[in-house]
Amino acid sequence: MFKGFHQDINLISSGMVGILGIPFDGFSSFLRGASLAPARIRETLYSDSSNMCVESGFCLSDDSRWIDLGDLVIKNSTEAIRQIEAGCAAVLGRGGLLLTLGGDHSITYPILRAYTQKFAHINILQFDAHADLYHEYDGNKYSHACPFARIMEEKLADRLVQVGVRTLTPHLVQQASRFGVEIVPIDRWKNGSNLTFSDPVYLSFDMDVLDPAFAPGVSHHEPGGFSTREVLEIIQSLKGRIVGADIVEFNPVRDPTGVTGMVAVKLLKEILAKILGA
Ligand code: MN
Ligand code: MN
Repeated sequence: MFKGFHQDINLISSGMVGILGIPFDGFSSFLRGASLAPARIRETLYSDSSNMCVESGFCLSDDSRWIDLGDLVIKNSTEAIRQIEAGCAAVLGRGGLLLTLGGDHSITYPILRAYTQKFAHINILQFDAHADLYHEYDGNKYSHACPFARIMEEKLADRLVQVGVRTLTPHLVQQASRFGVEIVPIDRWKNGSNLTFSDPVYLSFDMDVLDPAFAPGVSHHEPGGFSTREVLEIIQSLKGRIVGADIVEFNPVRDPTGVTGMVAVKLLKEILAKILGA
């Protein structure tokens, strides 16, 4: 059995959602700190500052279909990809679904490798200021700038839809076209644009999709992003069955006031409720 969870993985049964921290930032290209995010998100989630109810009125505290599994123990960068895949596959193998807390965005590639062992068809909705489609970055094919190139190369997703992107380079445009990625650049986003998916959807949420005014606690400040309200509306109105999600790139080192942590927790709660169909 896979050992590496703080919680007993036997508590996960079919249809349940496991919250799993993946405190890994070894493949960040600019700043470290995202590995501190799971602990900060938990501290914020369980603080008395807010309650466990979402905007629809549904209260997560009244629902026993989710469980906090604690953090995955990552030994080192060399082992990370394999360990993350194995840890996620263990939860999915028990019939559970995952909402993971990064860590940097490199974790999404091994998570998707685990998901495709269980789901024959997956669509990905990626919220991000960046396309993360570099063939390699600083000589590292597993950099947080590359996960979606690996995912598309290995055909782990049938569809990849990216919203909020605002830093495309010619190489990234070429990669997107090569892989058939559906990029909705932020300047072409229309309020009320309906996102509809027929296959199960995996939602990958990079906190830097938000404008730094709303979420300054990220490693790459990219002005001109969405407001918190806008991303909540996109998530709440999404048509499709969400079977997994990650919230990545929150960097507590850059969040002295704690505001970005509150935004991450808000997203966690709304996304969790959406996965639970509540
Ligand atoms: Mn990203
Ligand atoms: Mn990003």
